[in-house]
Amino acid sequence: MRSYRIAAIPGDGIGSEVIAAGIEALTACAGRDGGFEFVFDHFDWGSERYKKTGAFMPEDGRDQIKGHDAILFGSAGAPDVPDHITLWGLRLAICQPFDQYANVRPTRILPGIVSPLRHVTGPELDWVIVRENSEGEYAGVGGRVHRGLPEECATDVSMFTRTGVARIMRFAFALARSRPRKLLTVVTKSNAQRHAMVMWDEIAAEIAAEFPDVTWDKMLVDAMTMRMTLKPATLDTIVATNLHADILSDLAAALAGSLGIAPTANLNPERKFPSMFEPIHGSAFDIIGKGIANPIGTFWSGVMMLEHLGQPAAARRLMRAIERVTADRSLHTPDLGGRATTAQVTKAVCDALAGDNE
Ligand code: ATP
Repeated sequence: MRSYRIAAIPGDGIGSEVIAAGIEALTACAGRDGGFEFVFDHFDWGSERYKKTGAFMPEDGRDQIKGHDAILFGSAGAPDVPDHITLWGLRLAICQPFDQYANVRPTRILPGIVSPLRHVTGPELDWVIVRENSEGEYAGVGGRVHRGLPEECATDVSMFTRTGVARIMRFAFALARSRPRKLLTVVTKSNAQRHAMVMWDEIAAEIAAEFPDVTWDKMLVDAMTMRMTLKPATLDTIVATNLHADILSDLAAALAGSLGIAPTANLNPERKFPSMFEPIHGSAFDIIGKGIANPIGTFWSGVMMLEHLGQPAAARRLMRAIERVTADRSLHTPDLGGRATTAQVTKAVCDALAGDNE
């Protein structure tokens, strides 16, 4: 039997609650399939460790997980640790060295979920956002001098390389081609940012020539927020820079009903390193320990992990189980306006998996 070794990193806040739920559902899914199994190794990396030792993960942390088939990540963030320290100390400390340059974020309105857009009932909103995940505005280039003095100065320099832009464009065009509508929107800001964003547009046009069957268009990021809310059905696959896609995907998650549902995959498409799967929400400190965290974003991230591992039938089965559960409003957690608990939703997904005979 094929055995997949998964590094489970719950991180902070509700991370441990949703990852425990995710492990339960993925184990049930593998058991139902019978052809493969998961072995989870648990890593206690996160803000608690940082506060005790000064480091989010051990020095050889990446070596400990680089041989795993995939990483299942919860969330990073603590109220008493500055966000930029957490982000660079844990999430980016894994994404960047493992060259997980393609961040893929599907958005759909699942059955039973109500979008805040009053004219949208479901099929009008079915997107995948591809976020450049290795450079751009989050390249980490910059500095700060003369701290605290009136002449203090700080810079964050966006860095775009031809290699980095070309590979994310090629990935996005290929993904668009694999979807029924074969439609890609390239998000840009090449009116105001006249160097890197103009190069971004030029490279998009070059790569487009390799994909003559994909229809594509360009949108400025500001206008894109309007198109997402007013004309969602005109979009399918979307590619944007690290910063732009970060913002647009939070908007997308909200339009699809809740941050608690949205999944993401940080892919190293060449598979030289493990890819990382995580719900897009954060640590949600306001609900920690209450047992009401919505685990659907983690389950859907599990679906993406199964697809990446080459288990498409199991991925479809887990997605069917998720949709059966969201369709039942008595199984909605409070973020969706319901009263269900994490444990009830998890059990319902496991039961749906057991009862799926398709
Ligand atoms: P961070 O700084 O870690 O990103 P945050 O609190 O700024 O944390 P989120 O953790 O994403 O951002 O939470 C934003 C809001 O959405 C919070 O009110 C939180 O309770 C809610 N939320 C996020 N994820 C979930 C979830 N899985 N289930 C229920 N509510 C959630």
